[in-house]
Amino acid sequence: MAVRVAGLGEVLWDVYPDARYPGGAPANVAVHARRLGAEGVVASGIGEDASGDALLDALAGLGVNTEAIQRVPDKPTGTVSVRLDADGHPHFDCSRDTAFDHLAWTPALASLSRTADAVAFGTLAQRHPDSRRTIRTFLKETKALRVFDVNFRGFGPETGKIVRETLPLTDVLKLNEDEAEALRGFFGKGGLSDESFLKELVQEYGLRLAVLSLGARGCFLSDGRSHLFSPGFPVRAVDTTGCGDAFVAALIVRYLDGTPLEEAGRFMNRAGALTATRRGAVPVYSIQEVEAVGESTKRGSGKGSRGQKSSGLRNG
Ligand code: ADP
Repeated sequence: MAVRVAGLGEVLWDVYPDARYPGGAPANVAVHARRLGAEGVVASGIGEDASGDALLDALAGLGVNTEAIQRVPDKPTGTVSVRLDADGHPHFDCSRDTAFDHLAWTPALASLSRTADAVAFGTLAQRHPDSRRTIRTFLKETKALRVFDVNFRGFGPETGKIVRETLPLTDVLKLNEDEAEALRGFFGKGGLSDESFLKELVQEYGLRLAVLSLGARGCFLSDGRSHLFSPGFPVRAVDTTGCGDAFVAALIVRYLDGTPLEEAGRFMNRAGALTATRRGAVPVYSIQEVEAVGESTKRGSGKGSRGQKSSGLRNG
């Protein structure tokens, strides 16, 4: 049976100048998890509006389970305006006081907390006390692997406080370079290297794994015992929105099946790289396409990747 991966927090429309796409990092992780062979479940809220109806249809069309999406009265469905710069890097402007800010602890969420194998969540939906309370209840109740992709847009003391309060409810932490730098400052660890900072977080919060994504350069992984760098795969990037979400979904499916750390790192980088080559946060792709990323350049180099020894992600 497929593993069940819940994306808990925001679901919204990513609005580009000429089109709109379903988005919200946790929802994107659910869609990517589905592409990678898991059951993806979106746990969030939408308005009782036409925009919410359309979003529900779009998500169903993407193959994710929408049973844990609640309709929130008197609040609009969330939106984010996305602008891409010349390098394909996205800039975001998120609407406030939306449906996903007011998530209630519903029977559907309680049931999902018992049946999910993993849950991905972040900081954005925790900006309002209503959703913050509900998300933390889920994280306290569940036995699922709790994967925290902090994913902040602009950093202030309020975000730092959310991160500090959420880390004790976290099994796996994912940061990008900007987030690592902001958090090092916030935690007063400005003198530490990325690597040492990650190791400290693993120890202090008893994390099973911490991952630092480095954009096109790949990622660094630390499980407290193994610490390794996994190089990225060069691709022609057109839109890096959703790379981190694909990367997190890949992490989750490989963690749950006990894949060794090095192999998992390569798979995660491949999923991120493939997503960078296509428009939108949740482009269509197959698991075979992910596995093929970088294969043409590797063939003939004599540097096969099989047979390396490393510990499993799950077992450390
Ligand atoms: P986030 O999207 O969360 O800010 P990153 O930008 O670090 O995170 O991207 C996540 C992962 O996606 C990277 O670790 C890498 O594997 C892959 N990735 C991102 N951008 C590129 C790129 N331009 N080329 C190749 N891989 C990329």
